[in-house]
Amino acid sequence: METKQFQAESKRLLEMMINSIYSQREVFLRELISNSSDAIDKIYYKALTDDSLTFDKDSYYIKVVPDERNRTLTIKDTGIGMTKEELESNLGVIAKSGSLAFKKENEIKDGHDIIGQFGVGFYAAFMVADIVTVISKAQGSDQAYKWESRGADGYTITPCEKDTVGTDIILKIKENTEDESFDEFLEEYRLKSTIKKYSDFIRYPIKMDVKTRKPKEDAENEHEEIIEEQTINSMVPIWRKNKSELTDEDYEKFYQEKHYGFDKPLKHIHISVDGSIRYNAILYIPENIPFDYYSKEYEKGLELYSNGVLIMNKCADLLPDYFSFVKGMVDSEDLSLNISREMLQHDRQLKLIAKNISKKIKNELQSLMKNEREKYEQFYKSFGRQLKYGVYSDFGTLKETLQDLLMFYSSKEKKLSSLDEYVSRMKDDQKYIYYATGESHERIEKLPQTELVADKGYEILYFTEDIDEFAIKMLMTYKEKEFKSVSSGDLGIENEDEKPSEAEDKENKELFSSMKEILSGKVTDVRISKRLKSHPVCLTADGEVTIKMEKILNSMPD
Ligand code: ADP
Ligand code: MG
Repeated sequence: METKQFQAESKRLLEMMINSIYSQREVFLRELISNSSDAIDKIYYKALTDDSLTFDKDSYYIKVVPDERNRTLTIKDTGIGMTKEELESNLGVIAKSGSLAFKKENEIKDGHDIIGQFGVGFYAAFMVADIVTVISKAQGSDQAYKWESRGADGYTITPCEKDTVGTDIILKIKENTEDESFDEFLEEYRLKSTIKKYSDFIRYPIKMDVKTRKPKEDAENEHEEIIEEQTINSMVPIWRKNKSELTDEDYEKFYQEKHYGFDKPLKHIHISVDGSIRYNAILYIPENIPFDYYSKEYEKGLELYSNGVLIMNKCADLLPDYFSFVKGMVDSEDLSLNISREMLQHDRQLKLIAKNISKKIKNELQSLMKNEREKYEQFYKSFGRQLKYGVYSDFGTLKETLQDLLMFYSSKEKKLSSLDEYVSRMKDDQKYIYYATGESHERIEKLPQTELVADKGYEILYFTEDIDEFAIKMLMTYKEKEFKSVSSGDLGIENEDEKPSEAEDKENKELFSSMKEILSGKVTDVRISKRLKSHPVCLTADGEVTIKMEKILNSMPD
């Protein structure tokens, strides 16, 4: 048996890798399973082009076998296997990817989802194992070989016995130390959930022998523990299916399985884009506000998959803040990943996808508003505030996106109305979009300032949330109509500005100056008004800031 040395660079690289590339140790399993999936893909691909081979889907699988007693974890596959030379070049040279070479040699482009490309994933095994043993028999070869390594010290290759074509990777799981425990990687539950998390959509079955309790056949009310081989992953990514094959229940099931929320989704959006950047996405608008939504703890983001393998749990860059309530996932084969496959190298593709997604969400919400009003109102009750914050906090570009999604209570309709609907109902001589601010609809209705506007038959939007007026101030206009508070000095209504007669002014001069004196510091002027009908007095604001805004601004800490 000859022991070969890693090249010096490889040695250093290996140490670096083991200690610093991955943020979580559990991804070693994702990497090994991805390699097995690639190996099966290769046999499948060979069968497509070689008539002497057949691909019977049922005989291809991956199996994960923990052995607590011997402290080993084995990942077996029935893939293409490796020859002695391949063991040497693919596993002996770090950063050499046999899979990337395979893709190039066979000019595989679309439809074949070989995952490997960097030639480093395999070594992730050393994060949890002291010794890694690979037993492999290549397709078309009679002899099997064993590759074994303790990490940086090098590896050995020896002939060995193996009946079937494929590869077994045996990890001798590290002993626990004072600060670290590795036992979890031998636990059935932990392994199952890690497979579910990262490798749920690998297209071949990932099997495990699982302990289950079953009712005894001969005795009632008695159970027995049996070991049953189960397939852990769901295999078929629903986002790759045709929309027409899927029912609402399928989407709901996916929402619950992926723990996007405890509620039912209000609406799902299924996107398949096959343009300059290809991606699939399933997005959900939740029915209820997540309990922590308006708190600092809430993290926005979508799951990001590359070729069906989970890359990021919550990719925040995929969602703008104003759509932070959206849940779901994106899968793309066009992402350039960094070598840990946990992050993206360039965010150009991501930016394109994010932009595209935002547009789709907006369109979906708009059609919800039009066609399923009740649902939209339910959505708006939960997340309307977020949209208004969006309008308020972002300058310029957002206006177009969000203004059509806003709704306010209308004095005429007695229900929520969009700005577009308001404008379409405006009277011919009406210059402005009028609004009134107050704590509640009842309070606003009693405001003396609303009387003149209402009397003219003009509609008024009621602003009851603090953010409402701030958002509108950012918009300034909608369809070229300016927003106007009913409490502003100039209402743009004819007759209103008609000056009180000189006689009236003179008559009251003394009264007004003593009123001004008494209210000094609280009002800037006291005037006769033609605006009032049934109320004796009202307050108006002259500048940009209305009375409500002034109140809010004054209540803010400096
Ligand atoms: P990558 O998957 O990015 O190519 P890895 O370090 O994960 O890099 O694997 C290196 C190479 O080893 C793969 O490209 C492949 O050629 C080979 N390999 C690894 N695992 C297996 C396996 N289970 N069956 C067959 N070949 C494998
Ligand atoms: Mg790999």
